[in-house]
Amino acid sequence: MSYLVLARKYRPRSFETLVGQEHVVRALSHALNENRLHHAWLFTGTRGVGKTTIARILAKALNCETGVSAKPCGVCPTCVAIDQGRFIDYIEMDAASNRGVDEMTQILESAPYKLDATRYKVLMIDEVHMLTNTAFNAMLKTLEEPPEHVKFILATTDPQKIPVTVLSRCLQFNLKQMPQPQIVAHLESVLAQEGIGFEKQGLRLIAQGAAGSMRDALSLTDQAIAYSAGKVTEEAVRGMLGTIDTTYLVRVLDALAANDAQAMLAVADEMTARSLSFAGALNELATLLSKVAVAQTAPQAIADDAPEHADVLRLARLFSPEETQLHYQIAIHGKNDLPYAPDEATGFTMTLLRMLAFRPAAGDEQGGGQRPAARAVPAPAPAARMAAGAVPVVSQGQEAPVPRVSAVASGPLMASEPAVATVLPSDAAAPAQVQAPIAVTAGVFDGDWVALIARLPLTGFVRAWAVKSEMASFDKDVFVLRVGTEKLAGDKPMQEKLRAALEQYLGRPVRLAVSVGGLNGESIAAIEEKKHDARQQAAEAAIMNDPFVRDLIAKTGTRATNIEPRTPPK
Ligand SMILES: [Zn+2]
Repeated sequence: MSYLVLARKYRPRSFETLVGQEHVVRALSHALNENRLHHAWLFTGTRGVGKTTIARILAKALNCETGVSAKPCGVCPTCVAIDQGRFIDYIEMDAASNRGVDEMTQILESAPYKLDATRYKVLMIDEVHMLTNTAFNAMLKTLEEPPEHVKFILATTDPQKIPVTVLSRCLQFNLKQMPQPQIVAHLESVLAQEGIGFEKQGLRLIAQGAAGSMRDALSLTDQAIAYSAGKVTEEAVRGMLGTIDTTYLVRVLDALAANDAQAMLAVADEMTARSLSFAGALNELATLLSKVAVAQTAPQAIADDAPEHADVLRLARLFSPEETQLHYQIAIHGKNDLPYAPDEATGFTMTLLRMLAFRPAAGDEQGGGQRPAARAVPAPAPAARMAAGAVPVVSQGQEAPVPRVSAVASGPLMASEPAVATVLPSDAAAPAQVQAPIAVTAGVFDGDWVALIARLPLTGFVRAWAVKSEMASFDKDVFVLRVGTEKLAGDKPMQEKLRAALEQYLGRPVRLAVSVGGLNGESIAAIEEKKHDARQQAAEAAIMNDPFVRDLIAKTGTRATNIEPRTPPK
């Protein structure tokens, strides 16, 4: 006997055995039991969530020889024929491959005819959004005045592409993606029935990879069985899916918390040696950090049986919420910038080092007893110090007016010789009167681009470039700028220097996007020019109002047409 793939072998044959979609099942069951039947249903939802499965059960429920009900018997010739896909009055059409008007006409022409024994002729059109407009129009006529015994079941992954004239004639159900625990539970029961061993963590990874599709989950399980020669182990699934072992990333974050650059780089080296995907790793790292952030704000929201549960809770205590947010941002940025890195491994390593280099200042943590005290912070760059102005000096026990983020844009990344040690105010071990915490204020940006430029320590060509720019918009760390000429827009080296200065000043990574034209006269250069013009006009007015000049004009009949002061008054 040939091997039947799990997705087909375990396709649910009744509403009771259907996994998920309870809301749809409830509504359909109710309608069937009450015999209040719509003539067209539309099932929407991503692939593999059960649209075709529900359509087949519905076809049986309508045609079972024991009568219309939500519980078709499953054993009568009609039920069996539908299950086996050979019931003549249940037609499945895939609009993705038969999208033309000819196919549609053929189906519609057959609609009035059915076997005498059949109660309802059921026309199931999958991926209905793929139909051509003429095909839709052909269908619409039948949908508007359907024969009594015809039922339409339409299914789509993209309901927005369906004409509203069709939508309005259907009863619409939105099928949800399968939650991971539900997929895992179903896989467990399937594998138990198959007598195949498994590790639960392997099934979790499959559920994660299936992204809400039960059919994909079953197909992946099929592959995993073949791949692992009989037992679905975590290792086999990781190998098959190419997913990163989270333990690598947990180690990265532990090293980060301990400020241990060496350990961090060692993990990156190991990953390189195993040629793991760094884009995937940064993705997973961001996912892990998001779980840490959730654990910090709502620990009960982390599922107890999640494999990384203990690690996430531990990491949640090692980082402050601000640090978690910052590292998350850096991970996302690192992933986006990966294509520009010399190679993926370098991009990954630089992202990790950036996490080490940038970190929020101490002082935000409440009762940081669980944190490693006296975290070393790399020396702030002179420019950042300059831009930031005064350095707060606070004695022990005093409430420290600590800035939220310390700018540490450059300087030694390895904190082996930290120039400044940040001591938490709550650290009782710190000697009294120690000048701590010393943190350099990061510049804040309040949306005033002109003021920001004026505060940056820019010189020469970079300053010349910056004063000609206007800010079009600003979104967290992306500055969208406008300049007047192609030449300025094309001057990448100056933009890079400006970007670096901004990062240094703000103490976090930023990006610049530059476009040409659409200036509103808001650049420093334009404002200066306006001021100059205003001074010029004032000077002219002053001269014209001068009694001596008026007298002169009156006496000589001279007309002042071109009076220009040599030097504009200050
Ligand atoms: Zn039946």
